[in-house]
Amino acid sequence: METNGSRNSLTVFHNATIVTMDSDRRVFRNGGIVIERDRIKCIGQSPQILSQFSSVADEIVDLHSQILLPGFVNTHVHTSQQLGRGIADDVDLVTWLHDRIWPYESNMTEEDSYISTLLCGIELIHSGVTCFAEAGGQHVSGMARAVEKLGLRACLTKSIMDCGDGLPPSWADQTADVCIQSQKQLYKMHNNTADGRIRVWFGIRQIMNSTDRLLIETRDAAKDLETGIHMHVAEIPYENEVVKGTRSVERGTVTFLDRIEFLRSNLLAAHTVWVDDTEIGFLARAGVKVSHCPAAAMRMLGFAPVREMLQSGITVSLGTDGAPSNNRMSMGTGYFALFYGSFLI
Ligand SMILES: [Zn+2]
Repeated sequence: METNGSRNSLTVFHNATIVTMDSDRRVFRNGGIVIERDRIKCIGQSPQILSQFSSVADEIVDLHSQILLPGFVNTHVHTSQQLGRGIADDVDLVTWLHDRIWPYESNMTEEDSYISTLLCGIELIHSGVTCFAEAGGQHVSGMARAVEKLGLRACLTKSIMDCGDGLPPSWADQTADVCIQSQKQLYKMHNNTADGRIRVWFGIRQIMNSTDRLLIETRDAAKDLETGIHMHVAEIPYENEVVKGTRSVERGTVTFLDRIEFLRSNLLAAHTVWVDDTEIGFLARAGVKVSHCPAAAMRMLGFAPVREMLQSGITVSLGTDGAPSNNRMSMGTGYFALFYGSFLI
């Protein structure tokens, strides 16, 4: 935050309910907070903060009992899909991907991606988001340019597929080698840019469009670069059936990923709806993180067994998915679901 352009400007906000989310879960009912440039310098009760800092503050803001809390983290969003809101209503997932979304995504330019990410980011900020995990689009450089401008933090990921049904012609010639090399290049170009706000992760769109070689090389490349992997996992029963039929496992995607040691603590598994207790055990043991997207779940995929995951010690976070999956970027939908879910746990 820059208030008046001076190098060490101090801004005091007071008369707010401040939810810190720190290790002691402190909440200040009449709180004050001091910001020095882009850092929190001090936090406490309003009277103490004002008496200590009002004489040296550049700006003092009365928040009139509003609530201050840390920014939300949206752990699954397709920024490139923002311009496609409404193009895929009321269809099943395979139709959604093959006939609507992939033709749209494969025709995007880098400039389209930049504009789409800007629009998406504005809606995310409106919903209280300050950091997001990109689920995978075509033009990471366009996304990075937008994120730099938006002031958000982001883990950016390219959409990666090297085989399978439904691919548009321009994506059909992607080999595992090309997929890995292009992501290493993007990592080199954009990781830790925008004052450290941008990270570049590896992507796997979904197992039905990935060779085993791509999965294994992604696993190893991400480990070498000490970065994350973002992948759609076990979204629909059909996916598990395809995996059982083509990869000779008795369950589905998660069981196969466990077998090839793809399940690791740097994996962010999106959706992860169709898993049984054994597979929840695999995820927990490996330290895999799950992104649950309630709006997309209600609309198309079904709900992940969040209660069982939490009881197994899995970190479950919330995402919105892309605009055509839910037609909104509101984290409120997710938090309502979590709040409602807390009565069920
Ligand atoms: Zn997604």
